[in-house]
Amino acid sequence: DVAMYQAKAKGRNCYAVFNPAMQINTPERLQLENDLRWALERDEFCLYYQPIINLTTGYLQGFEALVRWQHPQKGMISPTQFIPIAEETGLIHQLGWWVLRSACSQLQKWQRFLQKNSEYPPFLGLNVNLSPIQLEQADLIEQIYNLLMLVELDYSGLKLEITESCLLKTAEAQANRLKQLKTLGIGLCIDDFGTGYSSLSRLHEFPIDTVKIDRSFVQGMGPNSSQTEIVKTIVTLAHSLGMNLVAEGIETPKQLEYIKALGCEFAQGYFFSKPVDVETATRLVRGYHRY
Ligand code: C2E
Ligand code: CA
Ligand code: CA
Ligand code: CA
Repeated sequence: DVAMYQAKAKGRNCYAVFNPAMQINTPERLQLENDLRWALERDEFCLYYQPIINLTTGYLQGFEALVRWQHPQKGMISPTQFIPIAEETGLIHQLGWWVLRSACSQLQKWQRFLQKNSEYPPFLGLNVNLSPIQLEQADLIEQIYNLLMLVELDYSGLKLEITESCLLKTAEAQANRLKQLKTLGIGLCIDDFGTGYSSLSRLHEFPIDTVKIDRSFVQGMGPNSSQTEIVKTIVTLAHSLGMNLVAEGIETPKQLEYIKALGCEFAQGYFFSKPVDVETATRLVRGYHRY
């Protein structure tokens, strides 16, 4: 069964199985699309949080918020399955908004705890994924601004992740929106860096603080591999532009060793932790976890 094979190949056996190459209008896809329309109202989404580790100190630096859909019949569905549908149908506006609101209110709760406990370092970061479709929305900045006023958040910890391929296609209006976000004090992060090829040269055009090296590069590193050279180049370029780096998809001690040697500041991956539920994440924050 193709779908099962692909799911296994992706190592996502914890998710419900769908064929990623589903035809646009298969009954299954239409069903999923229909279910997706109701999922927000029925409160079927939740956020998981994957730790990001500060490699200099070994401590938890923050999290990336990752959306999950607990489908009543199909179980947990991967965002790689439903985000594309949400983007095609425009539902991503509502969903993305829900993600941002939930993430900000969670960050605020954690910040309150950290502020009350002065023995803790005050900083905790939270990264939220932003779809390219959301970036096309004309009143995005206004919405985000209103949200930030509402939750009274110290949003120096908030970062929005935008994929490299999205950045490549960015028109002037979107580029201006990114600059406005920056002006608000929100961090910007390029996600999946290395997969969009030609954008190394365009990196300086955007107000980016952090580059996330895609896990395909991290995982391809080895003694004589060209991937190692590519990662080296990315690190050097990002540093020369004053940016920090997160290495994604660290699964082994060897990979950690390589990216440490190359000078990445932060890391994320199953080697440290899979994405965890809010209770587990809260325990990590309260325990000021060290890896
Ligand atoms: P992403 O933004 O690149 O997120 C990282 C993905 O890699 C996550 O998958 C995470 O669980 C997985 N991952 C982390 N460490 C490792 C590792 O060591 N090994 C392996 N094999 N995988 C690792 P997830 O949660 O299934 O999310 C998939 C994609 O769905 C995300 O890729 C992102 O593009 C999208 N996504 C997730 N949540 C949101 C959201 O709230 N909004 C938007 N627009 N997209 C989202
Ligand atoms: Ca991301
Ligand atoms: Ca990524
Ligand atoms: Ca990705």
